[in-house]
Amino acid sequence: MDDTTPRPSDAHPRIAIIGAGVSGLALGVKLLRAGIGDFDIFEADSRLGGTWWQNQYPGAAVDVHSALYQFSFANHHWRRTHGLQHELLDYLENTAKRFGVDKHIRLNTTVESVHWDECHHLWRVCTADDEYTYSIVVAATGFLNDPNLPTWPGLSDFKGVKFHTSQWRPDTVDVTGKRVAVVGVGSTSVQIVPAIQPLAEQVLVFQREPGWVLSKGARDFSDEEFEKYRSPLRRKLTRWKMAIGAEWQFVTGPVYVAGNRRNRQAEQAARDYINTVFKDRPDLREALTPNYPFSGKRRVLSDDYYESLLNDNVKLIPRAVTRVTEAGPVDADGTEYPVDVLVIATGFKASAYLSRVGVFGIDGQDIQKAWGHGAFALAGMTVPGFPNFYIMYGPGTNGAGQVSVNSLAENQSTWIIKDIRRMERHGYTAIETRGSVTDLYNRWLQKRLERTAWAKASNYMKGPSGKIVTQFHGGITLYWLLLQVLRPLGSFGRRLGDRRKSASSPAAASGPISLEHARQHEVLPD
Ligand code: NAP
Repeated sequence: MDDTTPRPSDAHPRIAIIGAGVSGLALGVKLLRAGIGDFDIFEADSRLGGTWWQNQYPGAAVDVHSALYQFSFANHHWRRTHGLQHELLDYLENTAKRFGVDKHIRLNTTVESVHWDECHHLWRVCTADDEYTYSIVVAATGFLNDPNLPTWPGLSDFKGVKFHTSQWRPDTVDVTGKRVAVVGVGSTSVQIVPAIQPLAEQVLVFQREPGWVLSKGARDFSDEEFEKYRSPLRRKLTRWKMAIGAEWQFVTGPVYVAGNRRNRQAEQAARDYINTVFKDRPDLREALTPNYPFSGKRRVLSDDYYESLLNDNVKLIPRAVTRVTEAGPVDADGTEYPVDVLVIATGFKASAYLSRVGVFGIDGQDIQKAWGHGAFALAGMTVPGFPNFYIMYGPGTNGAGQVSVNSLAENQSTWIIKDIRRMERHGYTAIETRGSVTDLYNRWLQKRLERTAWAKASNYMKGPSGKIVTQFHGGITLYWLLLQVLRPLGSFGRRLGDRRKSASSPAAASGPISLEHARQHEVLPD
């Protein structure tokens, strides 16, 4: 019998999932399909959808093709090549309803901390008002939701309207006829600038360092194409074809490896794009050409950002903001720019995994302390010293396959369900991660990451020590293979009452680890 097929059992471990975004919903569907219904999804927001509920700024859309940016079990008939925010939100809400996951979601319920209880092999899950117990906790909180808020002197003195892009709500901000400053030029900013340019009196775009930009190729499907994709089978085939195409680059060399053929070609295409759009603007050509290899920062895809910069009411200011006055931002040259609205498009604290939920494992160990020099996990999912605790889309998994977060979430859900089966089959009450295997795995990943363009640029992928903590290097096929090997090799089960192996015993290297042991073996930082 396959490990994920339902079994007649009324003794499933109870599962708490934190977050009702793409990952949490994928796991919810997979659990229900495996016959496991004893789970709750805690969602801090008032609606499900994660990123696609939180980010409602003008122009918000995905830059992965619709055929790929969806679950394999909910094959949607899309209207466009790249879904818009409200379409993606609808898709997630409909999927949750269709599979009955919505009934498991507790909205407006923030999990503040989770604590492992070694005496009972349970997690205590604490919200503001209550405490619950579960056997398993899954953090499906994503990594792009804790705003990277700037600390510019004087920011609080600004008299106009200011907000981070994730706080933009369509009904609360109207930029019509306003002078707007947008600080930052990442994937979010390049969607906002073209969307507000026709409305605003003036748009000032503050750029510290440019990104490499390629055209996205987003458009509505023609009526003919839309009809063609009415067939679910055709949609499935398209998805497979695109996934195989996306995976092929990992055979011949992914675009993010600095200096390889694909990387050089992409960089040339991005240079050509700049030279074409700004053929009469040498100032913008210079300001918009990065001086680091292509893919050094997350590549930016847009069909209209560059063009929007040519409008008379848009001005690129290729300098950092150094402070803010009552009137507006002041750039590195000391020039003040009076504006009505200040849009803080400065991204998220991507490398600060689980920054908004306290996670305390064996002996009350704080996961943030364990991660002192940068988050890590086995296959990005489990951490030594934190039994029955899983992270979806965790450290070192971003970009796995570059296919989509949906396929990543489905694969990670299968790992969790297999562990649940293992617990049921053997009567385990705790599944622990081996420090030795986690260490080996992360050394291997770090070695691979050294060759990437990510290592050669300043970006959000690096932790406090400069180590890349968010990225995987490889395709979804490689990631899938690793999951098959690492789950059995890298973890073991315990029953309540079993004596934990001592960290100093000879077996410790392959058994559970204590902080001391972990430090000795460089699994955990001092
Ligand atoms: P981002 O990519 O991290 O870009 C942040 C921008 O703000 C950068 O230009 C950065 O400059 C600038 N910045 C940061 N701190 C600053 C400061 N103190 N002063 C001035 N500038 C500052 O953030 P994002 O654009 O919000 O995108 C975040 C991620 O969300 C993306 O990379 C992507 O993964 C995801 N996203 C995806 C889509 C999609 O279509 N799928 C759309 C939007 C976002 P430096 O580069 O100089 O640091």
